[in-house]
Amino acid sequence: MQIVESKKCTGCGACSNICPHGAIKMTEDKYGFLKPVVNTKLCINCNLCKTVCPVINSKICLEERLQAYALIYKDDIIRLKSASGGAFYAFASKLIASGGAVYGVVWDENIKAFHSRAATLEELEQMHGSKYVQSNTKNTFKEVKVDLENGINVLYTGTPCQIAGLKGFLRKDYENLFTIDLICNGVQSRLLFEKYKQNFMLDKDDDEFITNINFRSKIEGWGKYCTEITTNKHSYKIQNDLYPKVMDFSANYCCGECKFNKIPRAGDVTIGDFWGVENFNPNLNDKKGLSIILVNSTKGKKILKQIEDICVLTSVSLEVAINGNPNITGRIKSKGKQEVFLSKIQNPNISYIRLMKKYTKLPFYVIVYRILPNFIKSFIKKKILKKN
Ligand SMILES: Cc1cc2nc3c(=O)[nH]c(=O)nc-3n(C[C@H](O)[C@H](O)[C@H](O)COP(=O)(O)OP(=O)(O)OC[C@H]3O[C@@H](n4cnc5c(N)ncnc54)[C@H](O)[C@@H]3O)c2cc1C
Ligand code: SF4
Ligand code: SF4
Ligand code: SF4
Repeated sequence: MQIVESKKCTGCGACSNICPHGAIKMTEDKYGFLKPVVNTKLCINCNLCKTVCPVINSKICLEERLQAYALIYKDDIIRLKSASGGAFYAFASKLIASGGAVYGVVWDENIKAFHSRAATLEELEQMHGSKYVQSNTKNTFKEVKVDLENGINVLYTGTPCQIAGLKGFLRKDYENLFTIDLICNGVQSRLLFEKYKQNFMLDKDDDEFITNINFRSKIEGWGKYCTEITTNKHSYKIQNDLYPKVMDFSANYCCGECKFNKIPRAGDVTIGDFWGVENFNPNLNDKKGLSIILVNSTKGKKILKQIEDICVLTSVSLEVAINGNPNITGRIKSKGKQEVFLSKIQNPNISYIRLMKKYTKLPFYVIVYRILPNFIKSFIKKKILKKN
């Protein structure tokens, strides 16, 4: 039995969380993406899984007009640990201070990404940083329901499709549930990520193991992509990491035509990077990180009020936010290259490094363009590409 066509399934886990007979197991497919596998011997054909699936029944109705802000979390130590300007920690730490529970993504001891619950600031620390791989939501939707019914305030964070999955699973609005969705360019294959880690470990000592991966290290400043891998022995700075460069091709099939990363947004608040800030107010960029946030609902407004004392907030028009970060409204990626790339990941005869080099190789015309004198570049831009 198939709940939804495999290529459309986001792997949100709503179906496996709802199944009353534990008949659905989220399992990695051959490309390394989590998909539901139904045990037909346990299934009683109740159809609940189809009822909650956000791909089949996506209804996002947020009531307020969107408001956009630039956000800087005032504590620089926290901001430097965060991928962008620290928006997540601002909302999450306030919720925890009021006795609530926060759900977000952490690495487990094998450096696999999964959703987890935090009720203390110490637990929250593990959620910093963008883990560029599909996260397993495990049983967190069920745990959220228990928290909500016990009157605990809950903040759930994740990709827009995961937020849509949680809402589909709950099937009613809870006053004490707050959601934050990420501006999302797609989640990467768990299989490719395993190959990435294995390749990194090739020249390391036998007793060395990875303890953390930070794809958004700010050692070189925010916006300059640099990966920091920490092991039990050393910390490695990887400036020209190939893994983030293939993110478009290594994303889940469904990300090619995403139904969720768009306006109206899935969460009460949306968070991401304030790219293009130099065209708005260059003084806001101190290279330590800057968030763009969208406030999408009355609940979003409520939690925004609570963080005013710990953040610097600057109102931004939605147009400026979208111009700098077009992923806010979603985009359709080139599916052709994605399909070929994903089919190659599973081929044991193609080494990780060979695959990455092939897919990150710049086209010849780009290499030639880069070495041209500036006056020829501006001529090409104006006269041929018709750009200002
Ligand atoms: C796969 C992915 C793609 C992204 N694409 C874009 C993009 O195209 N444009 C853009 O502006 N921003 C994108 N972001 C968001 C951005 O990278 C930051 O995560 C976001 O701005 C939050 O940063 P912060 O400073 O507020 O907090 P941090 O403290 O860095 O917060 C991290 C937050 O991200 C969540 N998170 C981390 N990894 C995952 C994951 N694998 N799945 C679900 N949630 C996760 C954590 O639970 C936490 O809520 C993406 C993030 C991810 C994980
Ligand atoms: S139809 Fe019902 S029992 Fe069968 S897999 Fe779906 S939720 Fe489980
Ligand atoms: S509920 Fe989520 S995991 Fe299940 S079939 Fe639908 S999209 Fe896939
Ligand atoms: S691009 Fe869309 S489908 Fe893919 S992870 Fe992001 S929200 Fe989910």
